[in-house]
Amino acid sequence: MNSSRTPALPFGSVAILGAGLMGRLLAMSLARAGCKVEVHEAGSSEAEGAAARVAAAMLAPLAESAVAPAPLVRMGHHALARWPELIAPLAQPVFFQREGTLVLWHRQDAPEAMRLARILQGTCEAVPELPAMQSIDGAAIAALEPALGTRFAKGLFLPQEGQLDNRALLASLLASLQQHPGVRLHWNSPRAPEDFAPGTAGQPGWVIDCRGLGAKPQWRALRGVRGEVIRVHAPEVKLTRPTRLVHPRYPLYIAPKPGDVYVIGATEIESEDLSPASVRSTLELLSAAYAVHSGFAEARILEIATQCRPTLPDNLPDVRQPQPRVLQVNGLYRHGFMIAPAVLDIVLELLSEGRSPLAERFGLPGMRTLQLASCQEKAGTTP
Ligand SMILES: Cc1cc2nc3c(=O)[nH]c(=O)nc-3n(C[C@H](O)[C@H](O)[C@H](O)COP(=O)(O)OP(=O)(O)OC[C@H]3O[C@@H](n4cnc5c(N)ncnc54)[C@H](O)[C@@H]3O)c2cc1C
Repeated sequence: MNSSRTPALPFGSVAILGAGLMGRLLAMSLARAGCKVEVHEAGSSEAEGAAARVAAAMLAPLAESAVAPAPLVRMGHHALARWPELIAPLAQPVFFQREGTLVLWHRQDAPEAMRLARILQGTCEAVPELPAMQSIDGAAIAALEPALGTRFAKGLFLPQEGQLDNRALLASLLASLQQHPGVRLHWNSPRAPEDFAPGTAGQPGWVIDCRGLGAKPQWRALRGVRGEVIRVHAPEVKLTRPTRLVHPRYPLYIAPKPGDVYVIGATEIESEDLSPASVRSTLELLSAAYAVHSGFAEARILEIATQCRPTLPDNLPDVRQPQPRVLQVNGLYRHGFMIAPAVLDIVLELLSEGRSPLAERFGLPGMRTLQLASCQEKAGTTP
């Protein structure tokens, strides 16, 4: 499915709850498909309560396969091709690159790196459409990232993996939604599905709940997984692609964004604690960055942020229909940007056909078999 094939949908109006990543993407696609869209967001237009604002927005299905099963990897591969199609028509440019991921390690972490390499090799065999991983030496690392010189003797290169500028994407989606005549945006407007009677007079035809962790009162299985991320301005560092450092506790990354900004992250802690970042996490993240490139010593810290990833028990995304004309899209966990276009395409298939061949292709049986809309439901008159 691509943007030129956005389906004509069999209903007129939709209320979307939550204007984070999924809410904005869905609102845009549904408006383009001819729906009247009303978006209700608990916070302001700045997405300050969204995981999407804090994320590094790396699009790294093979690198993530260390913690993500094959269906997510397939979704991530699908999404890498879809992002340019989704970004191109937006009101403002959004930084997006596919220069690959570099994985590095210090000598003492070599056993862990070998373990990781074996897992990634297994992923390449299980998902053959992925570009092959390359084992590289110090010279090849220096050729890819001259700023690293010969500091690292060995690494892995994962070609064609990507990243984007999450904040530019959120801002561009916002500008596009503001310009669209079929969209109304309601800020500081917390809502729950039970605030609506979809399909009745004066009500939206459907309600789509994209509230991330805000949906927990209605989806008890959701949990937050805490992540701490640091943004720095480091003009002395010239890295061109996301670089991951093998680390005994969690995969650390440095993602270069436009304007010499680097996102350094992220911790992963089983907790919904949203208090500020700990000293330990801050030291670990900044030390890792400094160990990769000494130019980070003079970087300026722009932000140290904490947010929780909305996560379901199996760490997989899900789309479910708790009642007629209400759809819940959630559980994007640490892969929201990596898989959002795939989730979007699944939801559009479900809404237009009542079934999702894509979900089947990705190996997501839950979403595939959703009884989203009976024929009667789809054909029903909607406001
Ligand atoms: C530290 C960190 C690093 C990450 N790094 C990456 C990465 O590198 N790559 C990647 O792919 N993903 C990453 N992610 C994950 C990604 O950010 C999430 O998976 C994604 O943002 C989830 O999207 P969402 O739309 O479901 O939820 P969110 O983006 O959290 O949006 C939910 C929205 O709903 C709103 N809301 C809540 N309650 C209500 C209510 N009652 N009424 C109305 N609105 C409400 C919230 O204010 C929010 O704006 C990271 C996340 C974190 C926290």
